[in-house]
This record gives sequence, structure tokens and C-alpha cells, in this order.
Amino acid sequence: MSRFFSEKFNSLDPYVPGEQPRDMKYVKLNTNESPYPPSPEVLASMSPENAGKLRLYPDPESAALKDAIGKAEGLGRENVYVANGSDDILNFAFMAFSKPGGKVYFPDLTYGFYPVFAALHGLEAVEIPVKEDFSIDPADYFGADGMVVIANPNAPTGRILQLDDIRKILENNRDNVVLIDEAYVDFGAESAVCLTGEYDNLLVCRTYSKSRSMAGARLGYALGDKALIADLETLKFSTNPYNINILTQLAGIAAMESEEYYRDRCLAIQATREKTAAELIKRGFTVIPSMANFIFVKSDRISGEDLYRGLRERGVLIRHFDKERIKDYNRVTIGTDEEMDIFLCCVDEMLKGASK
Ligand code: PMP
Repeated sequence: MSRFFSEKFNSLDPYVPGEQPRDMKYVKLNTNESPYPPSPEVLASMSPENAGKLRLYPDPESAALKDAIGKAEGLGRENVYVANGSDDILNFAFMAFSKPGGKVYFPDLTYGFYPVFAALHGLEAVEIPVKEDFSIDPADYFGADGMVVIANPNAPTGRILQLDDIRKILENNRDNVVLIDEAYVDFGAESAVCLTGEYDNLLVCRTYSKSRSMAGARLGYALGDKALIADLETLKFSTNPYNINILTQLAGIAAMESEEYYRDRCLAIQATREKTAAELIKRGFTVIPSMANFIFVKSDRISGEDLYRGLRERGVLIRHFDKERIKDYNRVTIGTDEEMDIFLCCVDEMLKGASK
């Protein structure tokens, strides 16, 4: 830290992304990327002709991209906000929708960036314990005095909240923004987007990074009441108006025109998820029911940390969280069938002779 760094950031503990090692080729099951390539339409949008457009600034309104997303979601351009990955949206939402020094509510087991954004914006993070089975009790969020943020499906557990429960949280927080982070919604969960017309306090956040195989493009979007979207635009135009590069805007439009391609890939991932879960259960693992493109698993024979390390040595990366309540668990991203076979093979090798 330099002597110039503002003291208001002294205690900031930055988010640590999943590792992206370059030393060898790994089976990468640690950052919830899609194992499938972007659609042919997205690949075609990366043409030399389009790359030539990099000379110019991109459209700061991202109008064509917003229209494509709006069309797919049945909403108008004014209900869509687009950003450089959904992390960018979360950052702005924490900044925009909390009182100075106020509170923000989220589960104790959830996306590790929420506490970082709370600290960054000087907010008190109220972490509500999830239940023993890692499910969320909606009543815990009724009458909160600050923004509520819930990932649905939740990460790293994969557990979902039903739409009725989200509605109850909205009903009981009329004066707070309720942000539903749907990064993983396309793998079998129900979206809350249909409630945006009814609740002006609902902001739904999505990403192209998972179900649309575009983590490297950095594109996310938020859907909600036009006043909420206008607030996010105000922050964008006060920081970085050209927040999405030209090629990503074009790729984002192309992806919205490839719905069938992505639906099929999401279904394939769900089928692989169920198959992998069944195989792990056969091997004595606890597998939390997941509606995401990952599973949260615990072995009865090997510790979470040993499993993580042993797999890494064998060229398979999974995610282990150094947090007391979940230290026996690992989060395993669903890859292709072939990748999951390699994963299971390595697990078998490690279980041979393992004793906890
Ligand atoms: N929300 C959740 C719950 C996530 O797991 C992630 C991915 N790490 C994000 C948001 C951010 O995704 P991105 O910035 O790639 O859109």
C-alpha cells in the first residue's frame, strides 16, 4: 500500500477470483465458465470487418444491444441496463441503492464479492445465516432496513428460492431495493424478471459469462423498473460512459439471436450435472441439490482441502473456500461429459486408500 492510498480503503479486503493458472492445461472446473464455445453467430461477429470498427468509440447507450436483450426478455430498452460483466452492475447497485453508511443484507454463504462491495461503499454487511441445509428462509429478509441482495440460484450452494418466496421478500421490502442476482438462472431455475413490472424495487441481474459462454467478453445486464435503470445510467455516465467495447456489444446482440443454440447447451450441462451428482452420491458424497452449472459437494472419506489439492496435482481444478462453515465442501463446475469422467476418475484414484 502506498502512503497516498486513501485511508478510507485501509481495511478493504479485495475479492480473490478463482485461479486461472497458465502453467499447464487443466480440466478447469473452478470458475463456472461454460465448457462449450460461444454460438456460431457470436463467433461470426468477431470478424475483421467488425474489428475495424474499434477505431471508433462504441455507442455509449448500447441501444442495439439493449433492444436485443429487451426483445428476448419481453421488456423495453428503458428497462435494460448493460455493463462490463455483472460484477460491474453489482458494484453500481451497491453504490446507488444504499444510504450512506447504511446496511445491505445478504446470506452468509453467497457470492464472495458482496461483502467486498459493501466494504468498498462503506456499508454495513448484514450476513444472514442460511439454514442447516443451505437453503434461504425468505422471512429472514422481511422488513430489512437496507438493500437486500440474493443470488438465485445461490452460489456456491446451487440452492434456489421459489418465485413465491421472492415475491414475499419484495412485498415486505417495499422501501428497499431487492437485487436478485440471476447469474446461474438458465440452468433450471425460474427467473424473477416477470415480477419487474409489478415491483419497482426489484432489480434482476444477469450475465453472459455462464450460460452464454462469454466470460471473456465481460458482459452483464440488469432488468428492472425504468427509474432504477436510469439511476444506474446516471452512475455510468458519471464514471465510464463507454463501458462496453464495440465487439462485445456486437457479440452480445448475436448471442441473443442464438437462443436455441444456448438452450441446448444449458440442457446438456443440466444432464451432465445430474449424471455427475448421481456418480458422486454412489461414492458416498453429499451433493447439495443444484439448479446451477456447478455442484457443491462433500466427501465422507476425504477432507475438502485434500480433495482440492489432490485433484489439482492431477490436473483438475475445482474451488475450495477457506470458510469454517463450508470447509469440507468443494464447488465443482459442470464441464463436458468427458471432463466430468476425468474428474470422477481422479476422485476414484484419490478415494482408493483415503481415510479422513
Ligand atoms: N454473480 C454471481 C453469483 C457470480 O457467481 C458471478 C461470477 N463469479 C458474478 C455475479 C459475476 O459474473 P460476471 O462479472 O462475469 O458477469
